[in-house]
Order: sequence, then structure tokens, then C-alpha cells
Amino acid sequence: MRTVHAVCSHDCPDSCGVLVTIDDSGRATKLRGDPSHPVTRGFLCGKVAKYLDRVYSPDRLLYPMRRRAGVPKASLPHGREAESFERISWDEALDTIAARLAAIAREHGPESILPYSYAGTIGQLGYGSMDRRFFHRLGASQLDRTICSETGGQALISVYGRKLGTDPEAFPHAKFILAWAANIHGNNIHLWPFVEEARRNGAKLIVIDPYATRTARAADWHIPINPGTDSALALGLMHIIVRDRLFDQDYVSRWTCGFDQLRERIAEYPTSRVSSLTGIAVADIERLARDYATTTPAVIRLNYGVQRCDNGGAATRAIAMLPALTGAWKHYGGGLQLSTSGAFKWDSDALQRPDLMLSSPLGREARVVNMSLLGEALTDPDSPALGSDPANRTPVHALFVYNSNPAAVAPDQSSVLRGLARPGLFTVVHEQFFTDTADYADILLPATTFFEHKDVQGAYGHYYVQLSEQAIDPLGEARSNVWLFSELAKRMGFTEPCFRDTPDDLIAQALRADDPEHQHPWLAGITAETLHAAGGSQRLRFEEEQDHQTFLPFAEGPFPTPSGRIEFYSANLAAQGIDPLPAFVPASESRHAAARNRYPLEFLARKADNYMNSTFPNLPGHRTMESAHSGVLEMHADDASLRGIADGDTVDVFNDRGSLALRAHIDGGVRPGVVAARLDWNKLSPSGHNINLLTSQRLNDLGGGPVFYSVLVDVRKAPASHQNPSDLR
Ligand code: SF4
Repeated sequence: MRTVHAVCSHDCPDSCGVLVTIDDSGRATKLRGDPSHPVTRGFLCGKVAKYLDRVYSPDRLLYPMRRRAGVPKASLPHGREAESFERISWDEALDTIAARLAAIAREHGPESILPYSYAGTIGQLGYGSMDRRFFHRLGASQLDRTICSETGGQALISVYGRKLGTDPEAFPHAKFILAWAANIHGNNIHLWPFVEEARRNGAKLIVIDPYATRTARAADWHIPINPGTDSALALGLMHIIVRDRLFDQDYVSRWTCGFDQLRERIAEYPTSRVSSLTGIAVADIERLARDYATTTPAVIRLNYGVQRCDNGGAATRAIAMLPALTGAWKHYGGGLQLSTSGAFKWDSDALQRPDLMLSSPLGREARVVNMSLLGEALTDPDSPALGSDPANRTPVHALFVYNSNPAAVAPDQSSVLRGLARPGLFTVVHEQFFTDTADYADILLPATTFFEHKDVQGAYGHYYVQLSEQAIDPLGEARSNVWLFSELAKRMGFTEPCFRDTPDDLIAQALRADDPEHQHPWLAGITAETLHAAGGSQRLRFEEEQDHQTFLPFAEGPFPTPSGRIEFYSANLAAQGIDPLPAFVPASESRHAAARNRYPLEFLARKADNYMNSTFPNLPGHRTMESAHSGVLEMHADDASLRGIADGDTVDVFNDRGSLALRAHIDGGVRPGVVAARLDWNKLSPSGHNINLLTSQRLNDLGGGPVFYSVLVDVRKAPASHQNPSDLR
């Protein structure tokens, strides 16, 4: 028996240290949270505690496959997917892919090849290293990875210049914790013990969320808000804080700029107006503003849901400004946490080698395609998603999917699926299971889990860098991203030595461990060896600048913004034609829009608490945990009775983009005018489609992000012939 330190690489802020026990035969028999990791603290979430079910699932893809001649894509139901494919060797798979990509690049230009990946793994090597080198050297289109957090990241940087936030270990010192669109209990569970410790010390937990999440139900005060109106609330809070002179005049004058312009802007948000926009009572807004501004330390845990609306960039900016106005950053336990990822100063250029684009047949940087517009990019040759120059919009002829499942997670699903089914599109999918996207593959390749490859990882919810050791041999013929793209590079004749780098080489490059003189001070002295010797995890070296126990990322300037100050007013955004101050602008699909006359209900396309985006829904144990919400539409009793709907009825949820059959559940989770359902796999959903059938490809106000939470629908009771509950899985 031996124990190996790995790191959970799923898309979660906690990045847990995981101890994997391996028996003499090399099989993993147990896993647990690393008790020595100060944030993991010895436990894992319910999703990953069951990880052996995933690694050793009988449904794992274990060898490369090719679509059988004549079998249409996605034509066989769940459970029979394998009949669409025939087993081939890795050599045959790699040779076939290399030959097809080379031919497509010759005939249509290399930009007609589109890689599509996201955070199926967030280890540095798996997320973006050899794969990026390969596509850069090939001259393939670049992918603008906007689908999740780009808007929030840009918003935070526009105000503060970097993506840092309050240390989770500081939360026990807070006296006022505002979880804004943050379901801490559902998907940031390792922050919860710190929150509970703070509450034992007298702190109050307040949740702002249009949905009664687990966290909201456990809070001292849940404030439901109309979807997409967070900017109005934040501006209204600032209005009260300034009106009542509750702001920190010294901090504002020393470390911020644009206060006078902000003061003018917030004058437009008196409490009465904010109340009518947000649906929050005037007295509650007044009380929230006063309590927040007068309790020290006060911290905001903001999560990314806020930015997935048309007005999401402005909303994130406005919320992020609150601790700058009150000076909350000066206090240990105060401030705001959206992401801590900016603290990990990886050498991304060394890992991803964007310079290789100049050695590609293009001899220049390739075009950039926004992943949130995948449907358009695959189906509309005139779409601006394919380039700003109408005369040079090369269609996509090859799609290479890894670390992602766009058939399930990309917005405007019917457009995406039409694109994936397009005749002539050559599609490669590197996956662990027969996902919705795997059903569209021409070549399907088996991928490793984080137990089966080595990596190095930071986090976006804490400040520890970790080494993820390979715990077990790859199952079957599963291979890592690094191996796959290194082998493909050989087949393509790419001779640059970087394609022969090993995982150990890549880890050293990511850390700049091979160039200590230029290693970032926060990574100083951290190498694979020191990580291994430390048990797999080391805190970033803030100690050189500030003591661990008083890490205050924005207590004092200067800050890395153009002005060197925290920017209430952003000249940078103004230069891009974006409002330099946050404002509330109603979404075109919201209760404030004319479209509401046709589709009167706001639809929250939520993630499932027991899945990680589209990872895990196919595993029986995880489905059982999520069973109360699978195939369910949550409604308010008023909206249900208006439509003659009773709890348990089958309903059709619809808009111009499609219609889903779900089972109505009336439990008080949403307010009147709002309905909610959770992400699942299409093929495990009652209608064969998930909630993204109803979402759109509209982009939000900053960074080109999607608007998953700005969606209008209506609901009707399904005909009597469809009321058999067995119709719904
Ligand atoms: S999903 Fe998040 S909470 Fe769960 S084990 Fe992974 S990092 Fe930890």
C-alpha cells in the first residue's frame, strides 16, 4: 500500500489536495482530502468523494475509436453509443487525425481547424500546454475561452488591475459575510468551515441570490433579487453609503480614482428606484447598506453567476467597488473574493508558446473565435464569430474537442448540435466517457483522469500551489493531453524541441523553476522537488512582502491599473467604447424588456449541486444524489396556479429557441416570475435536450461572455397524454 498526493483538477475554486491510497496491484482503493492542506482540511466534496466510481466506471472510454462507415452522428441512444464506433489502434488514430488535419489545412487554410477546450481539467499541463503549442504551430484558429469567467476577470482587472481576493483563511475574522450569487455550500464547500467559524465568532451570513440555494437556506438573511439586477443593487448600496457618509474618505482619497464621477452616477440610483428594479424592499436595501458599511471586517464572496447576464460586466465591477468605497480591504477578514487565480504567476508563454504561430503556415497570429458563439461559428459562414473581415471568414472544417462537452454546455444548443452534425465537419473528441459531444466524433480518443497523469495546479479559491502526482497507470489505453498533442506534433512533422518536453519539463517551465533568477517572487524557490518534499502543497511566497496572517491584497497601493489606483472610473474601458462607470442596463430578455409580453418568466439555467458542470451526470451514485432535481422545473406557486399547474405535473418550458419537457416542482426556491432548472446531459434529459436548448448566443457587456441567466421562457401544462411520470427520467 502507498499513498500519493494528487490534486482535484475539476473546475472548482477549492483545488483540493487529494491523498490516493494504492494497493500492491497498482489499483487506487481509497481517496480522502489532504488533512495537512490548510483549505482542504481533510475532506472532499460529495462529488469527488465518490471518485473511484468515476475512475473505474465500466463506462470509461479505454481505447481509440473511429466512427463506423455510414453511421450518422448521434444516431444511437444512450447505452448503445459504442455501436457507432469501431476500435482502432493509437497509431491508426493519430495517423488518421494528422492526415485529415494536414489535408484540411492545405485545402482550406489552417484557421479552418478549431480547437475547443475549457476547464475539464484546471491543472496547468492539462488545461493549456502541449495542446496550445500544437495548435499554435499548426496555425489553427485560437479559441477565446469566454464561456465561464472571462467577463468577471476583466471586470475585476478593470477596477483593481489583478485577480486577487480575500484569503479564505481570513474569513473566520470577518464579522459580516455577504455571499453574492455564491452558493458556498454547493460549489465552494471548503470555504464553508471558515464561514461557520466566523459565525461562531458572531459574524452574520447574508446571501443575495435569485434562487434559494443551500447556502441561502442556511444563511442568517437571504435576500432574493430579480435576475440580472445586481448592478442596480450595488449602485444603490453605494448611493446610500455615500449619502450617509459611511464611506472611508481617507482610503478613497489615497487609493482610488474616479470618485466624483462615481458619485454622479450613483445619484441616479435612489433606493426607491433600486427597489423597483431589484424587487428588494426599500427598508431591506437601507439596512443592508448600513450593516455592510458599518460592520468591520466585512467581506463579500462574489461568484461568477452575476456576470452571466447581459449587464454582467457592469454588475461585477459595481460589486467589486464596494470594499474600495468602505475601505474594507484594510482589515484582515475584509474585502472581496471573486478569484485568487491572479496570484499564480505561471510562465504561460513558456508553457503555451504563442510565438509558434509565427512558425505556422500563416506566419502570423491566427484569428480568434469566441467559444460562446460555437453554434454560429459552425453553422453560419457569414458570422462575425469567424472574423471581423467579411471577406476572410474561413468556415470551420475540423473541430478538436478536449476538456469540454460543448453539446451540453454551450449556449443555444440547437444551433450547436446542428453545427456538430454538419456534413463534412471532421470532429475529434478526447474524452473519458460517451458524452453528448462524443456522440458527434469521427475519431474518439480515451482521456486520463487526474489520477492517471502528473500536473501542477494553482487555484481560484486559495493561495496554495500543488503538485499532482500520477497515482495509477492510465486505465486501458487512456492518454493525457500532453502525450496526445506531443504524438500528434510528431506525426505533423513539427521538429521544434518543445514538442518533446516531458510533463516534468513542463512543470519546471510553468514554475520557471529552471530560471530561478526570473521566477516570480511569489513562486520563489518553489519547484516540483520542493512541492514533493512538502507533501505536495506550498503556500505562495507572500511572506516576502507581507505576513501570511495579514495578507491584505488591496490594503495599500499602488495598484497595477493604468492610474495606479483602484478605478471607479475606467478610462481604459471608455477607450474601448464601454461605459467607464457601472450602470444598470436591462437585459433584452428580462422582466424589464418588451420581450416579456411573449415570454413572461425569467429562466435560471442553473448548474447542478452534485455535478461539476456536465461532469458526473452519467454516474449512478451522482444521479441518485441529484435525483430530487433531475428533470425538474422549479416554479413559484403563483405562476403555477396561473397556468393550472400542480406540483409533479409534466410541463413544457419554451421560447423561440426550443421546448423542454420537465416536471413541475413548487417548493419556494424561486420567486414569482422566475423559474429554474439544472444542467444535465442531453441524452439523460426527458426531452433529449438540456437547459441550453433555451439559452441564447447573445453576448454580455464585457469580454464577450454568454448570458446563461438572461433568458425568457413561458411554461404550460403538457397535454394529458404526456402526463405519465414515467416519460420523465
Ligand atoms: S470538486 Fe472542488 S470541493 Fe470537490 S474535491 Fe474537487 S476541488 Fe475539492
